[in-house]
Amino acid sequence: MLLDPPIPVLLPHGLFDEDGRCHRQGELRALTGREEWSLAQAGERPGPRAVSELLAACLGRLGDYPRVDASLAACLTRGDRHHLALHLRARLYGDRLTLVARCPAPGCEAVADVDVRLSALSPERPLDAPEVLTVALPEGTAEVREPTGEDDAVLADAQGSRAERAALLWSRLVVVDGRALTPSSWLGLPARSRHAVALALADGTSAPDLGLLARCPKCSAWLELELDPFALLTRELRGGAARLETEVHVLAFHYHWSEADILALPRARRWRYLELLRNELEGRPLVDGWS
Ligand SMILES: [Zn+2]
Repeated sequence: MLLDPPIPVLLPHGLFDEDGRCHRQGELRALTGREEWSLAQAGERPGPRAVSELLAACLGRLGDYPRVDASLAACLTRGDRHHLALHLRARLYGDRLTLVARCPAPGCEAVADVDVRLSALSPERPLDAPEVLTVALPEGTAEVREPTGEDDAVLADAQGSRAERAALLWSRLVVVDGRALTPSSWLGLPARSRHAVALALADGTSAPDLGLLARCPKCSAWLELELDPFALLTRELRGGAARLETEVHVLAFHYHWSEADILALPRARRWRYLELLRNELEGRPLVDGWS
């Protein structure tokens, strides 16, 4: 199969191995039609485990890891996973994005276009991020790490209120003087200490900043948006699902390839064959300069 080479991607955080070495330089393949289709069917957004499967399908080498499976992809930080999703989106639809937001000011409700450059949301970070951040608390030295896909998968399965689930997450991210925490021992820390840990993570995170601010064009109120890269990708692919079906139909009809073979192609290959097919059917040269 003729496939485009994977693009190099430098993860903002990277994967730390047991020896503490960080693996950040990855290779990202384009989504195939099969992955486009499964994302288009993923509802509002794919769950954390589906994201791990997707990233495992798209990631080639990562540092010294020759390949990335779903369990390794689950160990990537939430920020690295978002960074990869932004790259996948940019490769499918380009770097620019226009979001539409409605003004929340009472009685205004004007609609604003917010223009975003994905590469500006998650610029390449040449410097290595630390594996954990350290915070000196009255209770001892806290170490906090960034949440991963695995943490998100545990949270997705967890019952309880929003506050209980938040405590569960913090108990997984934080150790104090080398001791693991439970959700109740996290909540047992003074509010000032919990705040100091949250602040250290917010300041020290390597994750892309997905919060966007824009002015309402009518009343100048501030509009706040939070971009979810996987929800964005899902929404856009859902909008293109009918087109993908048509592409499969046309290629199968003319080339007699199976559905599975066509869906194994990334979009750029499918579109190239459709272009060649159109030239053929319209009697135009297949290659410029040839008759
Ligand atoms: Zn307004």
